[in-house]
Amino acid sequence: MATTHPETTAPLPAIRAQQHYINGAFRDSADGATFASLNPTDNSVLAEVAEGSAADIDAAVAAARHAFDEGPWPRARAAERARVLRRIAALLRDRAEEFIGLEVLDIGMPIAQMRGLAARAAENFDYFAGVITELSGDAYKVGGEFLNYTIHKPIGVAGLIMPWNAPLMLSTWRIAPCLAAGNTIVLKPAEWSPLTATRLAELMDEAELPPGVFNVVHGFGETAGAALSAHRDVQLLCFTGETTTGKTIMAAAAPTLKRLSLELGGKSPVVVFEDADFDRALDAAVFQIFSMNGQRCTAGSRLLVQEPLYERFVAAMAERADAIRVGDPFDPATGLGPLIRSEHHQRVLGYIESAREQGAEVRAGGRAPEHLNGGNFLSATVIAGVTPGMRVFREEIFGPVVTVTPFADEAEAIRLANDTDYGLAAYVWTRDGQRAHRVAQAIDTGLCWINSHNVRDLRTPFGGVKGSGIGREGGEFSFEFYCDLETIHVALGEHHIPRLGR
Ligand code: NAD
Repeated sequence: MATTHPETTAPLPAIRAQQHYINGAFRDSADGATFASLNPTDNSVLAEVAEGSAADIDAAVAAARHAFDEGPWPRARAAERARVLRRIAALLRDRAEEFIGLEVLDIGMPIAQMRGLAARAAENFDYFAGVITELSGDAYKVGGEFLNYTIHKPIGVAGLIMPWNAPLMLSTWRIAPCLAAGNTIVLKPAEWSPLTATRLAELMDEAELPPGVFNVVHGFGETAGAALSAHRDVQLLCFTGETTTGKTIMAAAAPTLKRLSLELGGKSPVVVFEDADFDRALDAAVFQIFSMNGQRCTAGSRLLVQEPLYERFVAAMAERADAIRVGDPFDPATGLGPLIRSEHHQRVLGYIESAREQGAEVRAGGRAPEHLNGGNFLSATVIAGVTPGMRVFREEIFGPVVTVTPFADEAEAIRLANDTDYGLAAYVWTRDGQRAHRVAQAIDTGLCWINSHNVRDLRTPFGGVKGSGIGREGGEFSFEFYCDLETIHVALGEHHIPRLGR
């Protein structure tokens, strides 16, 4: 039954039973276990969710294996698979409001921002449908005697282990190319954000994806996730989440030599030089850390500002942070919703406390707004005077908290930007074109934006260096991961064959 939201009177989406989806059917856990999914706004129970164990993972992998070995999906022409993907995209657009409502409820993402993420989820399917139909191999003429050519082939069963910060957008970014390539999938959503994964399974059913091609097993990382990462019938593992979890998963996957794509944590620098366009740099710096409740892998969480501009920039950041409206994620005017869970909220507050103890200065936020005490809310927080020795400079906070550090010159800016275990994104602001490229190229990062916030084209390679991950996806790069390349060598005539033993 749909209920009504107390403040906005917008209808809330109905929540169906949160079951696994295995071989085209919804079902409870083999042992009947469930766990509670909570509403981040008030920590009340949103739904009871089937708690998957190794037995449920086994059933899902067996279904995916059978669909791969015997079913039509891997054998279908690319154009046929693309047609189904486009159908999924159309259904996602059709049901956008429902998906948006479910995800706002589940993770507290401000609704205005969730609209863009839902649109991107549909675009993921349309886009990779296009790439797969245009994908071509190479041909090599070898001395007139041979022709060698390459073909792309699906690999098998893929395990997708996903985080809670933007589940719909992030999972479809993997699901779409994985399906386009002809693989079959077992998705393990994060235990803190199950709702849109279950709804997506219903939608796959509606799109008439053959049974077993797409499966969902809910549950915890240490049980369901671990069973999936170690399963001998899984060939591909896509993981998005924390760096420490990525290391555990990589070790679990090693004995069965799985192909891995790891999209991990970040601590991305925003480098603002004295000659930057102040207003644009400020707009971007504010958006880059405080959007998505600060729970964003590419968040510009370390702001580095050249000394002459430093105090003015910090004051402007603090003023803007104070003005960001915190509260009900269903209110279109809300800029910052609740953090996902009270334990995460406590962890983020702990970081702010550590900054104070280590001598930094909290210039904005640092606590929940007065009227929102009791939930997982936190005002947009600006911590100035941060030095590389402080925990808040080094560790990923994953909340609406930016640290600010001054630098003297270009060399120091590069040194500070690279003084981190991570390397996912970087942002450089300067009107000096040559310096912009020098600095962008000197930063150890998978992605760098010059005079821009995070605007991404799906054709470009996405991924991190250092502790931020392994592999690149996007455009044709996705199919380097989701496909095997087979090389076929053809003799065109009667070439010489050595006659051993004659
Ligand atoms: P997490 O690592 O805690 O959990 C991610 C997933 O891994 C969940 O589904 C969880 O159940 C599972 N998991 C946990 N332990 C496991 C184990 N031992 N074996 C198998 N699976 C296990 O991450 P999170 O807190 O959900 O997400 C936040 C993190 O994700 C941040 O570090 C963020 O930077 C990162 N992230 C990265 C990207 C990117 O593209 N690089 C995108 C989004 C989020």
